[in-house]
Amino acid sequence: MGITAIYPGTFDPITMGHIDIARRAAHVFDRVILAVYDTPAKSLVFSTPERVAMARRALTDVSTVDVREFNGLLVDFARHVGAKVIVRGLRAVSDFEIETQMALMNRKMAPEVEEVFLVASLQYSFLSASLIKEIVKLGGPAEGLVPDFVADALRQKFASAGEAAPVPRWLSG
Ligand code: ADP
Repeated sequence: MGITAIYPGTFDPITMGHIDIARRAAHVFDRVILAVYDTPAKSLVFSTPERVAMARRALTDVSTVDVREFNGLLVDFARHVGAKVIVRGLRAVSDFEIETQMALMNRKMAPEVEEVFLVASLQYSFLSASLIKEIVKLGGPAEGLVPDFVADALRQKFASAGEAAPVPRWLSG
């Protein structure tokens, strides 16, 4: 049987930081379900099928990581898939505050599910999906921070939304 862990998030899009946490979790637990949250409160760049497909592609070589989408309460989905552990990544003090709040709420609802935090690797501890979206939107590079196919998908998304990088005003003077 072994221990199944669930690693939930928005993954809009998956970054090297997320991939690092998923791979490290796969070393610790027998099975990891990377659970892509279908309906976050924040606005999204990628659809749920797109976010799932990118996460799957990024982790295709790790046979014990399974990518699934979910909606509703995380603890209900965790129970449904038989996960005993919720994994989250911790970057900074600001993560700690919100994460402990969510963890305590989850524990109140599902005391049998334990939450485990993996500290972000140093090279990714400044990295967030929202920061990468902002950089690519402004025409900056995302190489090394997301897989190349994710960087391409981001550029395509912004181009097709008519949100290509603006020409800086200081260039036209
Ligand atoms: P959410 O929208 O639920 O905050 P995200 O998709 O942004 O989720 O991130 C999912 C999980 O991955 C969270 O636990 C978050 O703290 C963690 N995470 C995000 N970026 C990194 C990173 N660069 N290194 C390690 N963990 C990260």
